[in-house]
Amino acid sequence: MSQITHRTETRQVKVGNLVIGGNDQVVVQSMTTTKTDDIEATVSEIHRLEEAGCQIVRVACPDIPAAEAIPEIKKRINIPLVVDIHFDYRMALMAIEGGADKIRINPGNIGTREKVEEVVKAAKAKQIPIRIGVNAGSLERHILEKYGYPTADGMVESALHHIKILEELDFHDIVVSMKASDVHLAIEAYEKAAQAFSYPLHLGITESGTQFAGSVKSSAGLGAILSKGIGSTLRISLSADPVEEVKVGRELLKTFGLASNAATLISCPTCGRIEIDLISIANEVEEYISTIKAPVKVAVLGCAVNGPGEAREADIGIAGAKGEGLLFRHGEIIRKVPEEIMVDELKKEVDKIAEEHYAA
Ligand code: SF4
Repeated sequence: MSQITHRTETRQVKVGNLVIGGNDQVVVQSMTTTKTDDIEATVSEIHRLEEAGCQIVRVACPDIPAAEAIPEIKKRINIPLVVDIHFDYRMALMAIEGGADKIRINPGNIGTREKVEEVVKAAKAKQIPIRIGVNAGSLERHILEKYGYPTADGMVESALHHIKILEELDFHDIVVSMKASDVHLAIEAYEKAAQAFSYPLHLGITESGTQFAGSVKSSAGLGAILSKGIGSTLRISLSADPVEEVKVGRELLKTFGLASNAATLISCPTCGRIEIDLISIANEVEEYISTIKAPVKVAVLGCAVNGPGEAREADIGIAGAKGEGLLFRHGEIIRKVPEEIMVDELKKEVDKIAEEHYAA
């Protein structure tokens, strides 16, 4: 792994109460699917996303009613709010004035120099960052003409074009995304971007598909990028309830040891030695720990033959035995519990360990 692509070497940018970049944290982001001007629906979806562990939320701002809804939405949610604007600088100004914690707009698309200056001045006054969103599917015409088709070099050139406009106005609170639907292209574009500039990168594979296929495709692509030490925020884009995006994003970060605010489930694949109804127990425990905001490792294993030893890294676990469960901590059995109450006992132990983390 190249030194200069490590995420700790990026510039730090504040988004609400979060610091993006300059550290080894990767923040999970999602985007609402409601009409932004339907304040009730948007706020309610954001609350569901917060509950699932979403740390930053983005809303689309396609028209004036959406821009007018920003102050009220902002007032009623607890996580930083990003407002996505395409071209219209007036909406960018309204969003900034309305309390957006970050705006996503490409300065090269705003229009005249005066309009760009006005947006940058407003963002500076409120100390909020601007995300430049490069998308392989909508590269500038002069770049497409130069390269013939969307390439990683063309995407980096597009990013640098927008970055230059902001830097010339002495604006540096910048986050950049380099989205592509093609996984190879996205990986190469993010690698080249991490070499070309030090602004934090927001990761995403765009139009990745349905809940199942999109989760696999996004995880494959973003996993490759994360493993190179690239990325400070990420969004899994799915044609599904955005809560699913958050769940997949958190799971992906857990896989790389990059989520300090989520519990992990270890469960065995089951085999002929199984002594309990493991699949339904694993699903119940997974659901239970999904809202825990501490790095607790929980194991659920079908039997005690290989069970506790195989899950030695678990903070707490249960292994099935005849008519009972064996509760274990870090591979050591601590007590036996009757089958009927073993899941409840496991949950109590999980809560205790999570409390210890919260108190620490
Ligand atoms: Fe089979 Fe037991 Fe291993 Fe599960 S823990 S796969 S039931 S041997």
